[in-house]
Amino acid sequence: MDNRIKHALYLSGWSYAAGDKSTLRKSAEKILINEYQRHMKGQIFCPECSANLFRSPEDKDYASNGRSAYFAHSRGVETDCGLRTKRAEGKKYLTEEEAKKAIQDEELVIVEGFIKQKPVSPTKEKSEYDATQIEEQDGPVSRVPIGRHRGETFSLPSKFKTIRGVCNKFDENMNRYFFMPNGKHAIQLQDLLKNVENVTDEDDLPKIYYGRIVSSHNAGKTPKNIRMTRLSFKSRDFADFYLKIPDELQREKGIDDNAIGRVVLIYGIVTTSGAGLCIEDVGWGEFALLPIQYESLLY
Ligand SMILES: [Zn+2]
Repeated sequence: MDNRIKHALYLSGWSYAAGDKSTLRKSAEKILINEYQRHMKGQIFCPECSANLFRSPEDKDYASNGRSAYFAHSRGVETDCGLRTKRAEGKKYLTEEEAKKAIQDEELVIVEGFIKQKPVSPTKEKSEYDATQIEEQDGPVSRVPIGRHRGETFSLPSKFKTIRGVCNKFDENMNRYFFMPNGKHAIQLQDLLKNVENVTDEDDLPKIYYGRIVSSHNAGKTPKNIRMTRLSFKSRDFADFYLKIPDELQREKGIDDNAIGRVVLIYGIVTTSGAGLCIEDVGWGEFALLPIQYESLLY
């Protein structure tokens, strides 16, 4: 089983039995497995269900069986938590109000799509308008099949997001439930992300992929030409895996000849390109570099 709890919430003095969950979320410190210290014992909690966690083993990087250290739920507190057991059917809600509350609390995100075109400046003073700050726009109300009762749908507000918005506060987004366009269930982001290295063939259903940049160069002479960004890839059937987007669009996101080693997230479909695979025709809001501090959550 892979380790589903990427970080714990550390808050001294808080208790699961008596504490307010929103206080925990607002005030706690996020602790990665290698940031755990002994004095935190008994004061670390689950980022989804808020139950007590413990680190196993407590003060070594590996258990005697070779497994790396991980966070686990303490026995004794029973919670229905997607980080305890992966929910095959996604997260369900009893009522529409409960689902709306989950959206307000940012536990649930209904994604209508990702922003394709760079938003244009609402005023003429372009210098003061920074399109890169736009992370989401309101989408239409959607009928979403996430009721506890079979076949039940709720009318819920949706968003048009950007992958950049997903990359910001990526550690928190990993535990959020995303209902994606054409999706069937609300799935935790960590279960939606696909590693490019594990791709074995074309895939015409759009997904969120991530990959590590091996090289990047502009295949032409102008910023309108395609920048060929090669991603780390292991396949016996295909030669390589490229992200193919115009140079100017990639540069705006920080992807240039020097982006080697960085991780990129892309929402798109996988097609063949010569003897290899690629993702192309990606819109402005459909890809972004992952901030370096979050790379350890994926690798
Ligand atoms: Zn939990």
